[in-house]
This record gives sequence, C-alpha cells and structure tokens, in this order.
Amino acid sequence: MSATADLRFDVRCAMIDVDATLCRWLISFLLGSMHASALKRHWRHYLLFLIAAAPLLILVCLPPIHQDASYHEFADTRRFLGVPNFADVVSNAPFLIVGLAGIMLGACGRLTGYSICWFTFFLGVSMVSVGSGYYHWHPNNDSLVWDRLPMTVGFIGLLMAIVSESVHPKLGTILLFPGLMLGAGSVIYWHYFNDLRFYAWVQYGPLLILPALLVLFPSQYSHKYMLVIALACYLLAKLFEVFDREVFAILRGSVAGHTIKHLWAAAGCLCILQMLRKRQFVNVKRVA
Ligand SMILES: [Zn+2]
Repeated sequence: MSATADLRFDVRCAMIDVDATLCRWLISFLLGSMHASALKRHWRHYLLFLIAAAPLLILVCLPPIHQDASYHEFADTRRFLGVPNFADVVSNAPFLIVGLAGIMLGACGRLTGYSICWFTFFLGVSMVSVGSGYYHWHPNNDSLVWDRLPMTVGFIGLLMAIVSESVHPKLGTILLFPGLMLGAGSVIYWHYFNDLRFYAWVQYGPLLILPALLVLFPSQYSHKYMLVIALACYLLAKLFEVFDREVFAILRGSVAGHTIKHLWAAAGCLCILQMLRKRQFVNVKRVA
C-alpha cells in the first residue's frame, strides 16, 4: 500500500472505524479492572494512566499559574537586516526544514510506520517555525499564542504516534483529534484566564508519558534509543531556555541561550525523523 493510501486508511480509522478489535480490547480492559487479577494483568496500563493523570490532579489543586511578564524579555535583542531579535527569529528555520522533510519523506513512503499521528507531528514542527518566528519578531502574550499552538500540535502528534505503536495500533489515531482539541484548549484557556496549569500539563505531560511508554511497553520497531536521544535534546533545549542570559554572557554576547534552545529542539525533531528513516518493524508481541 502506498504512503498516501496508508494515510487515507488512518484517517478513515480516526473518523469512522472504531472497530471491533479495539472495542473488545477497551471493554475487556474496563471490565477486567473490576477483577482482582486485572491489576496484575493490566498493571502497565494502570501505571501509565496514573503517570498521565497524577500531574493533572496536582496541577488542579495548585493555585492558577500566571504568565510572568518577564518571560518576553530575551537576552539577545539585536536587530539585523531590519529583523528585530534576529537570532531568535531565524533560529526557527531548522523546524521548517525538518518538518517539511518529514511530511515529504512520509508521503513518498520512505518513513517506516508513517501514520496520521506522525504526519501531525511533522506538521506541528513545521508550523512551529512560523509561529515561533512570529512570536520572537514581536514577543508578547498575544503573539505567544501562535508559538504555543503549533507546539501542542507537535507534542500531541508525537505522543499519539508512540501510543499507537506501543499500546494499541489504533488507540493513538482515535485519541489524536481529542488530544489536539485538548492541546488547543489549554493554550486558549491560558490566554483568556492567564492560567498556565493545563498548558503545563500538555507540554510537560508527554515528557513523563513518553519515557513510561518506552519502558513499560515493547516497541514494534527498532532504533527506540533515538527517541531517547530526541527527548534528551529537548531537555537540553529547556536548560538553555532557562539560562538564556547566562549563556549570552558566557559566550560574550555572541549567541544567547534561547537561540541555542531552538537549535537543540530542532535537533531532537531531526533525531525522530532519522529514527523513522532507519528503523525496521520487529513484530514484538504486544502487552495484553
Ligand atoms: Zn523561542
């Protein structure tokens, strides 16, 4: 089957084909939870649910987290070729390259296990370049919405792709649209109520859920370690984001931490693209 046909098949699954296999799996999972032996059998699923739900429960109990106004004050504000905050704006270009490469290679059938979830991930990555570039051109709360919206598209696409490959082949596809709505809702909620709690869950939740999926469930594909490298790149990116000014000072005003953050985050996305290019289907038995 061609990649385009694959994609069409996945879309059909998402829209109408909640088939008997998945229904049976969900019903047996829910009914099974009533029996004592279910805890032993489905402990991985319960633990995964706990890892996903516990941070949300904790965040709901916390007071609203407001957006700090100083968030928009970046270290490197130099203008070049008429572009304000030049380095932070142009350092988003790699996202466009990696995102478009993922979409095109996927459409040509050159990515193993390419699905609607992976397409969503690469679409989100390419949209980040435009959204983040726009934000850094004129950083404020309104433009930040357009930075955060595509990021949630990327996070949800990645998470659902791994859910499908680890837990159930159609679960991620079915949860994709609700997940995207939840991600967009978290950004809109932050913007209108100045409360970052739900956005924090959408952004940082996958950083807990993805390693849990990798550890708890056998992967259907080789090169799983490249996803671990990608997550490490993202953590490194967050570190450079936090130390924006310190890095700018250490590097004597040449490159700021936030600029390097963009590059590490794009490197993480590139790592995922390479994983999809190199990996092979290994047909490991799924956890029941
Ligand atoms: Zn940025």
